[in-house]
Amino acid sequence: MLTTGPRGTRDILPDSSGYWQYVESIIREVCQNFAYQEIRTPIFEHTELFLRGIGETTDIVEKEMYTFTDRGKRNITLRPENTAAVVRSYLENKLYAGPQPTKLYYIGPMFRYDRPQAGRYRQFHQFGVEAIGAQGPAIDAEIISLAVELLNRLGLNDLKLLINSVGCPVCRPVYRTKLQEFFRDKVSQLCTDCQSRYDRNPMRILDCKNETCIEYSQGAPHMVDCLCEVCSSHFTGLKELLSAAGINFIINPRLVRGLDYYTKTAFEIQYAPLGAQSAVCGGGRYDGLIEECGGQPTPGIGFAIGIERVLLALEKQELLPPLNTAIDVFVAPLGIELQAVAFQILTEIRRANITADMDYINRSLKAQMKYANKYPAKFVALIGQDELVQNKVMLKNMETGSQELINRAELVHMIIEGMEK
Ligand code: AMP
Repeated sequence: MLTTGPRGTRDILPDSSGYWQYVESIIREVCQNFAYQEIRTPIFEHTELFLRGIGETTDIVEKEMYTFTDRGKRNITLRPENTAAVVRSYLENKLYAGPQPTKLYYIGPMFRYDRPQAGRYRQFHQFGVEAIGAQGPAIDAEIISLAVELLNRLGLNDLKLLINSVGCPVCRPVYRTKLQEFFRDKVSQLCTDCQSRYDRNPMRILDCKNETCIEYSQGAPHMVDCLCEVCSSHFTGLKELLSAAGINFIINPRLVRGLDYYTKTAFEIQYAPLGAQSAVCGGGRYDGLIEECGGQPTPGIGFAIGIERVLLALEKQELLPPLNTAIDVFVAPLGIELQAVAFQILTEIRRANITADMDYINRSLKAQMKYANKYPAKFVALIGQDELVQNKVMLKNMETGSQELINRAELVHMIIEGMEK
């Protein structure tokens, strides 16, 4: 137990944390380009927020939340996603009083009691964006375009963008009734989850991954054919905008979110080479959510991208950049009695914003050179008794093999000069 982490968790080790930093840096760059600002909300929230913000009939709330009572008897949940928390923060901090729409992004860990497998973890990381306060399809197109741009910039081009409209509280009840009519004589054949979805949330039957349910839902009516005037023109607008931006999409009527506060646009981006876990991005409009969470009726749209899945895809396609562990200088004291002066030199070098390290375990000269080469280090600054007495340092250029005895006072200057060559 002590030497094994909980099931579904992973350590991000030094040999791969650089890849995370790389992906995060591209995320930040794209968000900056699109004028989205970062928000960081707590990792835990009141459970009630997720019951409201995700919906009590969803798999996440029914089966996957890490919920506990804290020592003050509060009901707390580790966030399984971040939209609800962003909406809570938007309301609590009155972000609606600022310029609209409010355009936010986040990067961080989420927690779901999922069945762990490749690309599916219990602690995983999402990058997500939320645009709150704009109604028209242009912001939907912007959000989708941001997701596509990010994935393209990372080098993932073989993407499949699926879009759909799930309507609104005006047109959805009509559709829901049609759907129930369609499934009425098939209910008993569906999986047990779908049998309960039939009454509570029939649209989610379309989303079921069970083979039998997929088969029985062939020929089911499509939401896009039942949209009201407003939703229909919103969807047409979105398609026009995406086409104008040269973003290819496929309309997928099975892409649904059954809850009332999800409205109009729903989308998913798949990366086929990932196989079973091909969904890298899921998003949609949630015009009813802010009101559900206690605010004024306010439109919103967002998406979340699974960072582990993106990294898996980048690894598979060999798109990860080489990680750089090189340092500029390795300071090599020739004996423990020279450690203090070596440390002094190291400190001076680092204060000049030069990347440097030194030997801390009293290695032999040979072992120190080998260690310096492993980084690799561009220079080794050798300090022995002779150098100490003369107040000098032997600076060895590891690329050319040349070395030079240098006055201590000139060392930093010489290193900077050598680095520029
Ligand atoms: P969702 O919040 O369920 O719409 O998921 C959005 C994205 O997060 C998915 O497309 C996945 O890329 C990722 N994701 C969701 N659940 C997990 C998980 N358990 N492990 C890893 N990634 C996940």
